[in-house]
Amino acid sequence: MLFHRRFEHRYPRIVRGQGASLHDDEGNVYLDAVGGAGVAILGHGLEELATQAAESMRHVSYLHGTQFTTPELEAYGERLVALAPDNISHVLLMGSGSDAVETAIKLAYQFYVGKTGTRRKRKVIATQPGYHGATGLALAVTGKPRDRLLFQGLLHEQCFVPAPDGYRRPEESGEACAEALERKILEEGPEDCLAFIVEPVIGASMGIGVPPPGYLQRVREICDRHDIALICDEVMCGFGRCGEWFASSLFDVKPDIIIQGKGMAAGLVPLSAVYASRTLVEGIHRDGGNFAHGFTFTNHALSAAIGLRVLEHVERHGLLAHVRRQGESLRERLRELTAFSWVDDVRGLGLFCGFELVADKATRRAFPRSVKLAERVLQRAMARGGNFYFSIGYLPDGTGDSILVMPPYNVTPAELDQLVAILRDTLTDLD
Ligand code: PLP
Repeated sequence: MLFHRRFEHRYPRIVRGQGASLHDDEGNVYLDAVGGAGVAILGHGLEELATQAAESMRHVSYLHGTQFTTPELEAYGERLVALAPDNISHVLLMGSGSDAVETAIKLAYQFYVGKTGTRRKRKVIATQPGYHGATGLALAVTGKPRDRLLFQGLLHEQCFVPAPDGYRRPEESGEACAEALERKILEEGPEDCLAFIVEPVIGASMGIGVPPPGYLQRVREICDRHDIALICDEVMCGFGRCGEWFASSLFDVKPDIIIQGKGMAAGLVPLSAVYASRTLVEGIHRDGGNFAHGFTFTNHALSAAIGLRVLEHVERHGLLAHVRRQGESLRERLRELTAFSWVDDVRGLGLFCGFELVADKATRRAFPRSVKLAERVLQRAMARGGNFYFSIGYLPDGTGDSILVMPPYNVTPAELDQLVAILRDTLTDLD
C-alpha cells in the first residue's frame, strides 16, 4: 500500500491534465491554482516537452556524475550560470530543495574549513519564519518550530532571527531585522558562524513575505563584514516565479550561494540547483581540491535535458514578462476579496501571491489554531474545483493563516478569473 502523507484522506485520482486543469477518474475537474506547490510552472499535459523528454530517454538511461557528462548537461549549466548574478561561476544540479539546502551548507562549510584551517565555523543562522526543507540540516534551519519539534533531538543546533513582517510588524523595518542578524552573529561569535540562509521572498512558511527595500542589501553587508556566507534559498521564489530568473536579483544582492528547485523542470522530473560563487569554487579547488559531496542523481542527464527545454520554453514564450503582468492583475483581483471581513493583506511579487486570514483586521489578530481556517478554506476550495496552498502557524504563538496562489507561468486571464471566482465562492460558503 502506498504510504500517503495523510492516512485517512481520500485523494482524488488524477488521470489527465491540460493547462491549469486536472481531471480525476470520477469526471471532476480541478483548477490547479498552485501547480502543486509552485512546481507545475507550465501547467499540465505538455505534449512538446513530453516528446523531447522521451527523445532524451531513448539515448541513455543514466550516467554517474563522476564518470560522464552530456552536451545537454553542459549547455544547461552554461545557460543557468549566464542568467545568474555575475559573481556566480558554477551550478550543481540536485533533485530536491532539501538536498540542495544540505549541499549549500556543506559547500559553505568545506570552503571555510579550507579558508580558516579550522572547523569552527559551523553555526548557520536562519529566519523565523522560514522554510528550507525536511532533511537533517535543512530542517534544522527551518524557522517553523512546529515542524522541528518531533525531530529536535536529531538536529544540528539552531540560531534564528526574525524575518521582516510588513503586515504585523511594519514598524520593525528591514533595518531592525538586519540589526538583529548582526547582534546574533556577535552573540554567537563571528568566528563560529558559517552562514546566513534566507528566502529573498518568503514562501510556504509565511504565505508570502516580501522584504522591505534595503533589507537584503544590509544583510549582504553584514555577512561580508563578519565573513559568513550568504545563502539565498530561492527554491520557491526563484526561477521566474517572481518575474525574474533570480529573486535575489530583484533586490540587487549577490549571494555566495543560491538554491533553486520546484519548477525548474516544470514538475516532469525532480530537479534543483545549487549555484556557487567564483570565490567559493576557487577556494575549494585551491590545491586541486574537489567538493566532497554528491548523490547518485546529482547532475542527472535527463533532468538537465528537460530543465534546458523548460528554460528555453519560458524564454521563447516571453513568460517572465507574462508572469509580471499577470501577477499584477492577479493581486488586483485578489484585493476584491478583502471585502470579506476576514481577508486581508494581499501581497506578493509576480505570480507568487498570498493573502492573510484574520479574526480582526483592525488589530490583525489571527484566528485561534483550533479554528483550522486555512485547512477549511483549502478543503472547501477543492470541493468547488480549485487547488490552493496554505501556510499555517507562522506567528510565534503558533497562529497565523494565509492562502497562497501560484498559478502556472502561462496562466490565462480567463483562468485567473476562474480561480478568483472559486476563491470568492469558497469564502462565501465559509463566511
Ligand atoms: N526551500 C524552500 C524555500 C522551500 O519552499 C522548500 C519546499 O517547499 C524547500 C526548500 C524544500 O524543497 P523540497 O520540498 O523540494 O525538498
